[in-house]
Amino acid sequence: MDQRIAEFVKAHQEDIVNDWRDLVNLEGSLREPQYLYPEAEWLKAKFTEAGVKCEIISTADNYPPLVCGTIGEDRPGVPVIFAGHFDTVFNKGTYGDNPFRIDEDGKAHGPGVLDMKGGIIIALWTIKALESIGYNERPIRVCWCSDEEGGTDHGPVSKLITEWTSGCIAGFNMETSPVDWKLCVGRKYIFSGKAVFHGISAHSGNNYEAGRNAIVEAAYKVIAIQNMNNMELGTHMNPAIIAGGRMPNSIPDECTLTFSGRFKTKAEIARVREELKELFSKTEIDGCSIEYTLSDPAGGFEASDKNMALWSFVNDVCKAEGFHEVDHVFLGGGSDASGMAESGTPVLCSCGVRGEWNHTDREYAVVDSMFERVNMWSNVVMHLDEFKLD
Ligand SMILES: [Zn+2]
Repeated sequence: MDQRIAEFVKAHQEDIVNDWRDLVNLEGSLREPQYLYPEAEWLKAKFTEAGVKCEIISTADNYPPLVCGTIGEDRPGVPVIFAGHFDTVFNKGTYGDNPFRIDEDGKAHGPGVLDMKGGIIIALWTIKALESIGYNERPIRVCWCSDEEGGTDHGPVSKLITEWTSGCIAGFNMETSPVDWKLCVGRKYIFSGKAVFHGISAHSGNNYEAGRNAIVEAAYKVIAIQNMNNMELGTHMNPAIIAGGRMPNSIPDECTLTFSGRFKTKAEIARVREELKELFSKTEIDGCSIEYTLSDPAGGFEASDKNMALWSFVNDVCKAEGFHEVDHVFLGGGSDASGMAESGTPVLCSCGVRGEWNHTDREYAVVDSMFERVNMWSNVVMHLDEFKLD
């Protein structure tokens, strides 16, 4: 462990916590862009003060902005990037004024303390710690969005994240870390679909044979969709919402089915999309018809060889430099590591502070993990010239 970095972090513990407190207390969910712009200004000022050439980027009017920048543009090495989001799931004021607090067990509380403002502060102070020792091997980029928690127009933002990550040696998404030190090497993709089944209505007593039951047609498809599962490969299909029919004595002529799937790999997404196309191209009941739409897959990234190599490298640095070893994990929910990985750069997620219960009022982060990870990521960046892909 680099002693100069360790001493710098130790000497600035109070400043680090103050920044963390201020960022958590600057609340704002993605539904409140009016609060996210002042927050973006705060981030821009902080990163600029640390030496990062920073800008606030809007993808649409009145839509949550990004804060992106680079320090050491003219340094010789290939850049490295820290990324993440500064929106939280909580509207401003959900837990009263100035909600950040640290309890007697060394846990920090407050909306977004873990998910994921702690991770942004880690990146800020990693840059400051490296500056303090005159680090000048490679540029360091940062990219913070503020519509990660379910933004309605995340596509253009995700594209920018991909652009910023493009051409980097490694990308670290500073999301919530599990308490057990694991780093995330992949996350599941999700897509949803909606099918509308058309039948022929008829009186269920007088004209039974003239009717074509849209619900029965849908029922065949529900089972078929469920059977597209591949538990071994982590493909989970979920027929989720069904609606149809008007009254007991009439044959239903319409039924809608909403379903979703979660996938570890793009190959599985392609297989299921192909099978859905085949499934919806014919009906079991003559005279019924089907139309369907599918959303684009989102949120995931594959546990590729590159990501595994990056994880292994980081774990080696941890072992060599006396940090707690980091295991790896594949997570079910999505994150912006998805947009990062689209660039082809090796990516790890869950690089932020360690804690539990994000998206709830029980959310907490282990305060010591803040200092531990500023040290750890500083050392990882210093060793990045040893990271080689075969
Ligand atoms: Zn998050």
